[in-house]
Amino acid sequence: MATEHVQVVSRNQVRIDCRALRHNFRCIAESVGSGVEVMAMVKGDAYGHGMAETAAVLAGCGCRNFGVAELVEAVALRQAGIAERIFVLLGFLPEEADQFVHHDLTPVVFLEQDIRALSRAAAEYGREIGVHLKVDCGMGRLGLLPGDVPSFIQRIAELPGIHLAGIMAHFPEADQRQAMSTPKIFSRYQELIAGLDKGFRGIRHIANSGATLYFPEMHCDMVRAGISLYGCYPDGGTGEDVAAGARLQPAMSFATRVAQVRELPAGSGISYGHTYTTTRPTRIAVLPVGYEDGYLRDLSNRGEVLIRGRRAQVRGRICMNLCMVDVTGIGGVEVGDEAVLLGRQGDEKITADEIAGWMGTISYEVLCLFGKNNSRIYTDETR
Ligand SMILES: *Cc1c(COP(=O)(O)O)cnc(C)c1O
Repeated sequence: MATEHVQVVSRNQVRIDCRALRHNFRCIAESVGSGVEVMAMVKGDAYGHGMAETAAVLAGCGCRNFGVAELVEAVALRQAGIAERIFVLLGFLPEEADQFVHHDLTPVVFLEQDIRALSRAAAEYGREIGVHLKVDCGMGRLGLLPGDVPSFIQRIAELPGIHLAGIMAHFPEADQRQAMSTPKIFSRYQELIAGLDKGFRGIRHIANSGATLYFPEMHCDMVRAGISLYGCYPDGGTGEDVAAGARLQPAMSFATRVAQVRELPAGSGISYGHTYTTTRPTRIAVLPVGYEDGYLRDLSNRGEVLIRGRRAQVRGRICMNLCMVDVTGIGGVEVGDEAVLLGRQGDEKITADEIAGWMGTISYEVLCLFGKNNSRIYTDETR
């Protein structure tokens, strides 16, 4: 029967614009200049954009370095055919050290057990592994304190099969241009490197998107760009005031289709808990999107969507698979109409930062939620 071959798809579609990904990469690569490399952060399933797909698109336009959190992600990238350098940022289990040899991966190290295990694996296979050292210069997260770095580097030098290829740190507030911590942490990082008695000729990298866009003097040898590649500014702004990165384009959009249009009288309670009651005859569009799709319950009575190019407000609680929006003032809404939850429709747009504002979070989390909880389609995959 012919119907066996019809592919059934969800009405909820996250669309990834590959052209925007390439555009943003080129924007950042141009702004840092040819002497500085870009590491594309593709952790978190590329902030919900799809790790393997995103990495393939970026590799295709010249990205040579990728960053992931865990070893399992790096192996998946290799299996997807990514041949560029892949950094594993958050450590690994000692018994997995040989994976770095098998898959030619770059480990970021911060434990004595990391370098011992890597040295053992390197020796076993007769290979050499370049490690990057993670220093905590004031981030207050992962890494070695600066005071512990010289002896750790000494240990790396003593161990066969490994060598120090890079030193990295991270900023807690580089998205805030006036924050005092950024220059302080950067001087600590520079002093640490300048103070190493045998000198350091490896790769220095400390800048995330914030420092990449707002602190050009802190680019060092490589920048690690995440959110900017996906088209958002780390401070939630529009980038109009950023010369170098003013042209970033959001790569993700999220849309669904109207499931039912209803005319309700004044005084009708809407959805679980009746947290909204209509105050006049109201036309409601029911959407087949809910918190299961990453459209979190926090957006109840708060979110807005675009239908027929106009904004419609979420009314009542968001359910697991449904939410209701008020289309009273919007003429001609019909079942099957597109409703845009994130992105553009007509002259209107809803940004990840706007949604993040309604949810009390940041664009990063919105992108992860929408991208990871829905099927994705990729547009303009070819150059
Ligand atoms: C996620 C991450 C980045 C990228 O941060 P953005 O603000 O998304 O650019 C850079 N460095 C490290 C260590 C990270 O964990």
